[in-house]
Amino acid sequence: MAAKNYDVLFLGGGTAGISGAAFLLRQTKKYSIGIIEPSEWHYYQPAWTLVGGGIYDIEKTRRPEKDYIPAGADWIKARAKEIRPDDNIVVLDNGEEVGYKVLVVTLGVTYLWDEVPGMREALDTPYASTNYLYDYAPKTWELLKNFKGGKALFTVPHTPYKCGAAPQKIMYLADEIFRKNGVRDKSEIHLYSPGSVFFGVPGFGETIARIAQEKDVEGHFFHKLVEVKPQERVAVFENTQNGDRVEEQYDFIHLVPPQGPPAVVKDNAALTEGAEQPGFLNVDRHTLQHKKYPNIFGIGDACGVPFAKAGAAIRKQVGNVIPNVLEFLAGKAPSNRYNGYSGCPFVVGYGKLVMAEFLYDNVPAPSFPKWLIDTTKPSYLMWLMKVYFLPWMYWNRMLYGRMIDK
Ligand SMILES: Cc1cc2nc3c(=O)[nH]c(=O)nc-3n(C[C@H](O)[C@H](O)[C@H](O)COP(=O)(O)OP(=O)(O)OC[C@H]3O[C@@H](n4cnc5c(N)ncnc54)[C@H](O)[C@@H]3O)c2cc1C
Repeated sequence: MAAKNYDVLFLGGGTAGISGAAFLLRQTKKYSIGIIEPSEWHYYQPAWTLVGGGIYDIEKTRRPEKDYIPAGADWIKARAKEIRPDDNIVVLDNGEEVGYKVLVVTLGVTYLWDEVPGMREALDTPYASTNYLYDYAPKTWELLKNFKGGKALFTVPHTPYKCGAAPQKIMYLADEIFRKNGVRDKSEIHLYSPGSVFFGVPGFGETIARIAQEKDVEGHFFHKLVEVKPQERVAVFENTQNGDRVEEQYDFIHLVPPQGPPAVVKDNAALTEGAEQPGFLNVDRHTLQHKKYPNIFGIGDACGVPFAKAGAAIRKQVGNVIPNVLEFLAGKAPSNRYNGYSGCPFVVGYGKLVMAEFLYDNVPAPSFPKWLIDTTKPSYLMWLMKVYFLPWMYWNRMLYGRMIDK
């Protein structure tokens, strides 16, 4: 018998864990709720692109985790080291065991820097940065604003990764920074991606490809980053169609780490076997209920189904998964079905944003009627929404279980 037991245990207190627990507590107070989360800080990651673009203060992107643990939930401030689904137990790194009736896995992704030799080391040279880390997003801005011309490379990882647009958003901002500073005509901008297009959602994709062309961005598709040589300032790519190795010298490189499942999930084959994204949590794409263990659900980036990993997706997942959890606790089959909705607020310049929204299989799903606002076109209003409204909504609504949708 575990020392502590909860009716519902959230594993991870990031976007999905906090908004999920808060939304559950808004529905009912009759269940005991625990949240396992080791971090002192809660981060609003979507603003890191804006930090890299020099228009957002990094300090505003994190707040103390304690301020966002919902009233009525216990914060178990520890790291989980093992999930024992047959015993309904999570083992913490201090050896303690926590029991549950329902486990909601909200662990996010893990960065796999070591998958690409030299990538992590490159970050500490004056030519490379990433918006994917709190400590480095301000460095992106320092490097871009001081760029004197040359080759700027932007990479996309070969794994599933969070925010489908983030590796590119900073590239379009870089183009404008270089123009403003009079160095664009001495610069080349290259995107290296293992994908086949700039953006695959019909309607939005054409706009992004046109903007890339107008900005004279050279897209190299089917190219996987396999090594970075920081001393020589060279990035090595493998052409995934013919196996060729391509070496590209750089004067600036924006790196995005390969991303994988959290170790506690990946290390337990019973939790992952059969998942659409190998190694991630094997949940049903609509109910987000585990396919083997019906008392386990997933919300957010740790799920092994191919929705676009983003906070926008989580807002809708919470609205379906928490009612499913309540149905499960009441002895009923989960009836709420998440449709794969996700959103990419695609920054394509300062004051310009294409609000791409879509469902599973890249089916476009704009929230606004076209006669009101055509979100396939760059919009200033949508930019204002990204810079002002969405951060406010995150900290003041979503993390309190409000403005949660189906
Ligand atoms: C640069 C960047 C730009 C982005 N832009 C956008 C955007 O414009 N729009 C958008 O919707 N989304 C965007 N995202 C994505 C969005 O931030 C994530 O998809 C979202 O935060 C994922 O939520 P999550 O709860 O699944 O994971 P996270 O919020 O990452 O939370 C996971 C939590 O689990 C905890 N954890 C990990 N391991 C353990 C363990 N063993 N035990 C206990 N706890 C553990 C972590 O400490 C963390 O707090 C962006 C992300 C980045 C990095």
